[in-house]
Amino acid sequence: MKKIIYLDNAATTKTAPEVVEAMLPYFSEYYGNASTIYSLGGASKKAMNEARESIASVLGAKTEEIYFTAGGSESDNWALKATADAYANKGNHIITSRIEHHAILHTCEYLEKKGFEVTYLDVDENGKVKLDQLKKAIRPTTILISIMYANNEIGTIQPIKEIGEIAHEHGILFHTDAVQAFGQLPINVDECHIDMLSASGHKLNGPKGIGFLYIRKGVKIRSFVHGGAQERKRRAGTENIPGIVGLGAAAARAAASMEERTAKERELRDYLIDRILKEVPYTRLNGDRTDRLPNNANFSFQFVEGESLLIMLDMEGICGSSGSACTSGSLDPSHVLLAIGLPHEIAHGSLRLTLSEETTKEELDFVIETLKNIVEKLRSMSPLYEDFVKKHQ
Ligand SMILES: *Cc1c(COP(=O)(O)O)cnc(C)c1O
Repeated sequence: MKKIIYLDNAATTKTAPEVVEAMLPYFSEYYGNASTIYSLGGASKKAMNEARESIASVLGAKTEEIYFTAGGSESDNWALKATADAYANKGNHIITSRIEHHAILHTCEYLEKKGFEVTYLDVDENGKVKLDQLKKAIRPTTILISIMYANNEIGTIQPIKEIGEIAHEHGILFHTDAVQAFGQLPINVDECHIDMLSASGHKLNGPKGIGFLYIRKGVKIRSFVHGGAQERKRRAGTENIPGIVGLGAAAARAAASMEERTAKERELRDYLIDRILKEVPYTRLNGDRTDRLPNNANFSFQFVEGESLLIMLDMEGICGSSGSACTSGSLDPSHVLLAIGLPHEIAHGSLRLTLSEETTKEELDFVIETLKNIVEKLRSMSPLYEDFVKKHQ
């Protein structure tokens, strides 16, 4: 197989070798059920507690506030549905933003069908929630504010501390989808007044199918899966011990390497952004220039179709992601790119490249040169581009 340059780390990451190694014994050696009293089960329980502790310490949380789930989507679903359920007697209003992940947006749509009212906050041209609009949206019946920590498409980091303070002042619960931020940015749940936080293993070099929901002590939240007494009776089912061990190892690893790793990623990200903007005409950067995830670059190339771009990049061994959901059968451009005000035709020509700790400058040089050629080629086939050039000659 041709060498692959993987620049789609916001979609998923490679499981780190030391994470795989930490998990392996829990498949075939320490396979006991953590709920049993013999020592084989005890080994599982001990490993699970250690993973819980290491995750809690990364967030400044208490061990018993971490609940394991099957990933980011489940955590988001749980946070919203169970809060809606438990606080329905207090009110029926939820505030979120237009640029959330579908795990939040589609859950909100479901809750609307159940009689809840949802305010979807606009964002500015860089993808940031407007705090004055948030304050104005608050009603006596508002029970929950759910705003993502950092956006998965354009990388914009939200003013989480300010949002948390507003929620706290009004006695409203604050949930944040931190699936992209956890492991990339330092997070402290107390400083930011976060009551619930979602994260997922496979976005931080951990395994797929495992995540957690942080639930602050005292928050009334209903069970998500009914059954056994696992996860303090709130999420039944025999624990995914290898996954939990892997998530714990990935969290500890990401926290230990965060400063150095993200500094290197930021430098390479800026190198990529600067060169693309300078060397490819009629191109824009999407998302906030500075308040953005260390590994995220998102461009729109005028007169180019994002899907064609992806296919041609793939032929060169480069994995990226486009701003539209054509691959999933829909022709609509990304809701995030539309929310920051891009017209449809510009949003359609978008490309997200997300770096990893293994990305090198040499790889990016190859990507930049390849991209320049591909964009030129695609534009040379575009009648719109031809018209545009004629007019501007
Ligand atoms: C990936 C992602 C999710 C979903 O996580 P899964 O573990 O894949 O279910 C939710 N929110 C954001 C922001 C994400 O990037």
